Amino acid sequence: MFRLRLVAFCYLVAIISHSASAQRPAAPQSSLKTKPSGAPEAQITFSAVHVDGSYIALTFDDGPSAKLTPKLLDLLAAHHIKATFFVIGENVSEHPEIVARAAREGHQIGNHSWSHPNLGKMSDDAVRRQLQRTEDAIKSAIGAPPTLLRPPYGSITARQKRWIHADFGYEIILWDVDPLDWKRPGPAVVRNRIVKQTRPGSIVLAHDIHPGTIDAMPATIEQLEANGFKFVTVSELIQMARPETPKPTPGG
Ligand SMILES: [Zn+2]
Repeated sequence: MFRLRLVAFCYLVAIISHSASAQRPAAPQSSLKTKPSGAPEAQITFSAVHVDGSYIALTFDDGPSAKLTPKLLDLLAAHHIKATFFVIGENVSEHPEIVARAAREGHQIGNHSWSHPNLGKMSDDAVRRQLQRTEDAIKSAIGAPPTLLRPPYGSITARQKRWIHADFGYEIILWDVDPLDWKRPGPAVVRNRIVKQTRPGSIVLAHDIHPGTIDAMPATIEQLEANGFKFVTVSELIQMARPETPKPTPGG
C-alpha cells in the first residue's frame, strides 16, 4: 500500500515538475524505494559532526570579496589550513579567479545562492533558479559543481531540503559556532566567541566580506591551533562522522 502511494506521489511530482526540470537532467531515483522499510534516510543536514579527534571546519560565507578573500587565502595557506567557502553566485561571476584560486589551494566551494534571498519563503522555481545559476558559475570557475548548500540565514524548509538534495545532490550545511561577525563587533569579540564555542566536530560560521572578521582570523586560528584543533573542509568533516556512542547510565 505504501509503495503504491509512493509511486502515485512520485508520478504526481513528476507531472508537476516536468516543465521545471527541462533544464536539468532527470533527478536520480529516490533511494527510498530500494531501502528496507524502517531504514533511516541518510542524513542530509549538518550543523556539527560527531568525530573522533579535534577536527573542525571553518566556513566563510558571502564572498568572494576582491579585497578580503585573497588576504584570507594568504593566511590559510601560511597555516596549511583547508576551509570551506559558501559563495554568492553574483560575486563568483564578478571574481571567478578568486574562487579558482581557493579551489586550487585545496579549499572547498559551496553554493550560497545567487543573490542571498530567503529561500525558505520562495517558490520552488525561484529557489531552483538561484541554485542552478550559482552552480553554473561555480562550475565555470573551478571546473566542478558544488556538493554543498548553505541557505542564506539558514532559512530552508524540510521539504525544500529533500527536493534540493534529490535534484542537486547537495548536503545542507548549517553551523554550531556563530560569532555574529556580520554585526561587526570588532576582531577581539569575533575571536573570543569562536574560540569559546568551538568543540571537536564544530562547523564555524564566519564571513569573508567583513574587514573585522579577516582581522580576527590570525589570532583566532593561532588560539584554535593552540587548543589542539585541526582544520578540514566540511565534506572531509562529514566523512569522519562516527555514530554517537551512548554514555553508560550510572547504576543502570
Ligand atoms: Zn550569507
